[in-house]
Amino acid sequence: MADMRLVIVGAAGRMGQALVRAIADRDGAVVCGAVERQGSPLLGKDIGELAGTGPSGILVCDDPLAAFAKADGVIDFTSPAVSVEFAALTAQMGLVHVIGTTGLEVQHESSIARAAERATIIKSGNMSLGVNLLSVLVQQAAKALEAADWDIEVLEMHHKHKVDAPSGTAYLLAKAAAQGRDIDLESHAVRVRDGQTGPREPGTIGFATLRGGSVVGEHSVILAGEGETVELTHRALDRTIFARGAIKAALWGQGRKPGLYSMLDVLGLS
Ligand code: NAD
Repeated sequence: MADMRLVIVGAAGRMGQALVRAIADRDGAVVCGAVERQGSPLLGKDIGELAGTGPSGILVCDDPLAAFAKADGVIDFTSPAVSVEFAALTAQMGLVHVIGTTGLEVQHESSIARAAERATIIKSGNMSLGVNLLSVLVQQAAKALEAADWDIEVLEMHHKHKVDAPSGTAYLLAKAAAQGRDIDLESHAVRVRDGQTGPREPGTIGFATLRGGSVVGEHSVILAGEGETVELTHRALDRTIFARGAIKAALWGQGRKPGLYSMLDVLGLS
């Protein structure tokens, strides 16, 4: 089978560069296009040279339509409004679209779900095997440890450049806990605490966010009972884990019918 031709959008970003390196390191996929925002100073540069893998002949461009026309799939770690825009294009062209972008609001989610009627979209707030496995364990723990006796808190830390909070992964893990408890996350989430908050509301799921330095991503789900706590933790040491997961998702999506899929589907954990 021919290599899957992938366009990296947000190609000059932290994840874009990690993707170019990860694709160079494996068989089955090639980069056929690199898209950046209009006005980026990196337009026209060779993507392989930028990522440190050597000259590739693929120049960073700001014309997604032309790039997508030559592709089988698109990998997208950009920003919510940009991912929605690209999803409309991948739907038009019937491509595989892997979305790792986080911070999506309800209106972004529904636009992406509409696009998935015609595109094969694989979307996850965390593309790593470890976090997706952790989400299954969190769901089991939340189910086994009753809400009356066990409080659930999600703690995360990321590098100082991250622009959204709580992280997509914190949200993904909290959602798994809510599923385990058979409750709706939105109406039970406590996203921020400040000042005279009063005692903890039973049955809620709390978030705490830390930002600093170059931390790639650390998440703990803490189940706190009377006299004991259980902590389920994942530490990302390198962005390559997300890049490898995203490539695996793109390859998994090849030839699959349009729809909205998650990494749990890709990893056979759903
Ligand atoms: P980044 O800021 O380094 O990269 C984003 C890139 O997108 C930038 O280079 C920017 O110029 C580019 N961009 C903006 N508008 C564009 C447009 N219209 N067309 C093409 N490119 C455009 O950010 P990052 O650290 O790479 O993270 C990107 C996103 O991925 C964030 O939402 C982050 O939270 C998320 N993320 C998800 C996972 C996961 O596993 N799902 C892992 C890491 C990061």
